[in-house]
Amino acid sequence: MQVPLLDLKTQYTSIRDEVLAAVSEVLESQRCIGGPKVAELEEKIAALSDCKFAVGTSSGTDAILNSLMSLDIGKDDEVITTPFTFFATVGSIVRTGAKPVFVDIDPNTYNINPDLIEQAVTKRTEAIMPVHLFGQMADMDPIMEVANRYNLAVIEDAAQSITSTYRGRKTGSIGTVGCLSFFPSKNLGAAGDGGMIVTNDEGLYNRLRIMGNHGANPKYYHRYVGGNFRLDPIQATVLLVKLPHLDNWSEARRRNAAFYDEKFAGTMVKTPYINPDCVSIYNQYVIRVPKRDALVAHLKEKGIGSAIYYPCPMHLQECFKRLGYKQSDFPEAEKAAREVLAIPIYPELTHEMKDCVAESIKECLV
Ligand SMILES: *Cc1c(COP(=O)(O)O)cnc(C)c1O
Repeated sequence: MQVPLLDLKTQYTSIRDEVLAAVSEVLESQRCIGGPKVAELEEKIAALSDCKFAVGTSSGTDAILNSLMSLDIGKDDEVITTPFTFFATVGSIVRTGAKPVFVDIDPNTYNINPDLIEQAVTKRTEAIMPVHLFGQMADMDPIMEVANRYNLAVIEDAAQSITSTYRGRKTGSIGTVGCLSFFPSKNLGAAGDGGMIVTNDEGLYNRLRIMGNHGANPKYYHRYVGGNFRLDPIQATVLLVKLPHLDNWSEARRRNAAFYDEKFAGTMVKTPYINPDCVSIYNQYVIRVPKRDALVAHLKEKGIGSAIYYPCPMHLQECFKRLGYKQSDFPEAEKAAREVLAIPIYPELTHEMKDCVAESIKECLV
């Protein structure tokens, strides 16, 4: 039995007529930039995130970049973050001219280890950027405590965690800003690129809006050097069709996760650890096994999709060489990079498919 890591087609088929009608409506209106669909989505995502404000962006990456730029972070500034993340987190920091300062991860959750943050704070530190990896939020209370003590901004990279919670609080609502992504493989995925920034800070919200329109206010009078970070109305309309399904889809992922958890109990497979303070949306179900690369080969042979998120931690990336980090600087991130494997978790998996994935993995453990 073939089981892909992700199957977008099945989900699309279930909402095709609505998506086509919604896209057609936008095309007929020829409202090609901004407009009511973008505004409606912003309002709904703000509400869903327990935030007062939201600004649509062209991608999750641009949500992060705009947040950094609007917080005036740049040359001579430092931003503390995790080395175990998708490139966009760190790439955006470097693009502003600021310096990423890494601290190691908690090996159970793969999120930034809050106990290591304070010792990384310097006079130049301006912000902390925790990443809520795989759908589970980082341990935010101790992070906010350090941030408040040193007066630092907190930019939540919530690209993988829309609607997930920490102690009952929504992702993106605890820090200064939260950055969401609608990349097609996220729990709420567009038909292309898209993202959003959520915040409760009205002054910052106004700045984010202006910054995302080339820093212009009014039009053609540029207060800042911003960029074109706007969300496309066609993507917004597709997202509005999908939004009412989001909770059911995330719930289905949690059910799939519970199935695997039970299947792997008592085996050598280390299943995801979910902090009891958190509700995860399982953007990925990431297991840990010592002979990971042999398992990858076995699954490939059986036609089962899997992926390594992420094989090379950020402090060892070629393009960040000048930051001066080296092998064994962040042993937990490096160990995770050697052992993690994401397996199919998408909501439309059938019982037979999940069973096939679990049994195929168990075959390979002896
Ligand atoms: C997906 C993702 C992003 C950025 O997303 P894009 O929308 O693809 O630009 C940023 N950070 C993390 C952790 C992500 O997973």
